[in-house]
Amino acid sequence: MSKPVATLTFLGAARTVTGSKFLLDLNERRLMVDAGMFQGAREWRRRNWDDFPVDPATITDLLITHAHMDHSGYIPALVKHGFHGRIHCTPQTRELTAIVLRDSANLQVNEARDAARGGYSKHNPPLPLYDEADVERSLPLFHDVAFDRDLDLGGGVHARFTRAGHILGSASIRVWLADDPQISVLFSGDLGRDQHPVLRRREEPEGATSVLIESTYGNREHPTGDEEDHEALAGLIRRTIARGGSVLIPAFAVDRTEILIKVLGEMQHAGRIPPGAHLHQLADGLGGT
Ligand SMILES: [Zn+2]
Repeated sequence: MSKPVATLTFLGAARTVTGSKFLLDLNERRLMVDAGMFQGAREWRRRNWDDFPVDPATITDLLITHAHMDHSGYIPALVKHGFHGRIHCTPQTRELTAIVLRDSANLQVNEARDAARGGYSKHNPPLPLYDEADVERSLPLFHDVAFDRDLDLGGGVHARFTRAGHILGSASIRVWLADDPQISVLFSGDLGRDQHPVLRRREEPEGATSVLIESTYGNREHPTGDEEDHEALAGLIRRTIARGGSVLIPAFAVDRTEILIKVLGEMQHAGRIPPGAHLHQLADGLGGT
């Protein structure tokens, strides 16, 4: 039997935290883990428009760690350019990604229309990266994967999703070759903290010969203990409302927004902020990280 060939290529989330895309060629299979959109500064967002480095039709399987845009937002663009393989993720990620991608297409279509009216786009006419029809063509390609079960991708390639505790449905994904214990790769995806107000905490995946770990907040200590009751935020809201003001909070990401709304609701319930305060969601745009 010929020696297995494994190649890992970084197509995003390198020198930036967005645009996660990892190409893994294993024997005859060409997998991609995550299909994230580049977000943030214009120089990165422009990369969403670059020609894809490989023909998307040659990718056999797409494995998605979680629903944040910087891990899933590029899926409809891949499908638009020929990807027609399977998309594997947990059922929760599938449901959440459908919401995120529909929202993303809608925002892009609106943005392109506004740019056409305002005449401020470099494209003429301004175009969305993809539209609602591309999203609807992507959704039937999704296949549910349960946590902690081996997924046989064919060609001796296997994968296993482990709970990552980051957002609903989020997973770390380990991929390995059944015939060769030397070839295994663990993609951490984004990792949750030890405590999450709603989610079960992350579990430890089996080790691998290569491990890719997210490090977005790797240079920061998260607050612990007393700061968890968010008294700084409660005090700020009380002071602002006392002087007749409004508090606008740019909560931009799936999971972060839900936690914030939950915390505000609990503060109201406990009488820590005035009961008359109304929570409005002004605009969305379901970002990530
Ligand atoms: Zn994330």
